[in-house]
Amino acid sequence: MSWIENILKDNNPETMEELITRADQVRRKFRGEAVYLRGLIEFTNYCQRNCYYCGLRRDNNAINRYRLSAKEIIDLALQANQMGFQSLALQSGENPDRKTVDFLVRVVSEIRELTTRDSSIGLGITLSVGELSYADYKRLYEAGGHRYLLRIETTDPQLFASIHPPSQTLEKRIECLKALKDIGYQVGTGIMVGLPGQTPDHLLADLQFFVDMDVDMIGMGPYIPHPQTPMGREPSASQVDPWVHTLKVMALTRILMPDINMVASTALQSLRPDGLKWGLRAGANVVMPILTPIKYREDYRLYADKKYKSFPQLKEEIEEAGFRLGLWQWGDSLRWAKRQQQSEDNKVAGHLQAEEAM
Ligand code: SF4
Repeated sequence: MSWIENILKDNNPETMEELITRADQVRRKFRGEAVYLRGLIEFTNYCQRNCYYCGLRRDNNAINRYRLSAKEIIDLALQANQMGFQSLALQSGENPDRKTVDFLVRVVSEIRELTTRDSSIGLGITLSVGELSYADYKRLYEAGGHRYLLRIETTDPQLFASIHPPSQTLEKRIECLKALKDIGYQVGTGIMVGLPGQTPDHLLADLQFFVDMDVDMIGMGPYIPHPQTPMGREPSASQVDPWVHTLKVMALTRILMPDINMVASTALQSLRPDGLKWGLRAGANVVMPILTPIKYREDYRLYADKKYKSFPQLKEEIEEAGFRLGLWQWGDSLRWAKRQQQSEDNKVAGHLQAEEAM
C-alpha cells in the first residue's frame, strides 16, 4: 500500500484535490448520487464506560443524565417513518446490563412490528450501543436490528490503550466486530482522526483493517477534544490533521471499498460549516439527521461544540453538493448484499453437490 502511504504523508493540496475527485467518481459509479438517511435517536447518555476522550464517560458529573422512554423512542421512529427516512439509528452510551438490553430488544421489535403492519418493509434499524455479549447481539438481531456500528477508534494497540481505561481492550472490540458479522449484521466500524500521538502509519494500518475485516459500513470523524475529559484537559499534539486526514482516509476508504456505505459524520460537520459537502465529495453516501428531542441534545456530546442542522438545511446542502436524498429506501450496503448473495449461492451449490453424490 505504498501509494496510500505517500498520499497520507503528502501535504500538497493538489494531491488532496485529486484524491477527492477520484473518490467522488468511484462513489458515483458504484453507489450513485443517493444520500441515505438514518434518523439518529440518542436514547440515553448514561454510560458505564470511561473512555478518556468522551463527554458521556461515567465519571463526567457535569452533564445531566437522561433516558428516553420506550414511547418517546417509538413516537420519534414513527415520525421518521412518515418523513420518508426509512432507516433509524438507535445510539447510546454503553450499558450491557440485562435491564437495558431487555428494554432495547422490546423497543426494536415494537418499531419493526408497528412499521411493517401495512406489509411495507418498515423502518430499517441500525444499532450503536457498544460492546455486548454474543447472545445479546443475537437477541437484538432477532428483534429486528440489522445494522450495527461499533467504531474501533484506532487499530494500534498502544494508541487504543492511551485513550481507554485498561478494562477496555482492542481484542475485545475486534471480538465484538467478528461476533456481529457472524450473526449476520451489516457491520460498520470507523476511527477517530487526529488523536494525540496518531501518525499516518496508524491510519494506514486502520485502512488495512477495514479491508481485512471486509466491513460493510464506515463512520469516521475528526477527533475534537471535550473539555470535561482527561484528554480534553491535557491536550497534546498529533502528527495528523483532523480535517485533512479525515477527508483523506474517507476518500481512500471509498476507493479501496467502492460498494460500502459511508457516513458523513456530525463531527466533520461540527469542525467546519461546509463539512457535510466535503464529506460527501470524499465518498460518504449516508447522513444521520439528529432526531433526539432538543431538550436532551446539549447533554449528548461525545466531543465539544457539536453542531446540529435541521432536516431542511441538510437537504439543501446535500442537493447543493450535487447529490439527492435517498428517501423511502433502506439504502443497504451493497458489499453486504453481495456477501449475502454469495452465501446463498454457496448453499445452493452445496445442496446440488450433495444431491449429485446421492
Ligand atoms: S465512547 Fe461510548 S463507551 Fe466510551 S464513554 Fe463515550 S459513550 Fe461511553
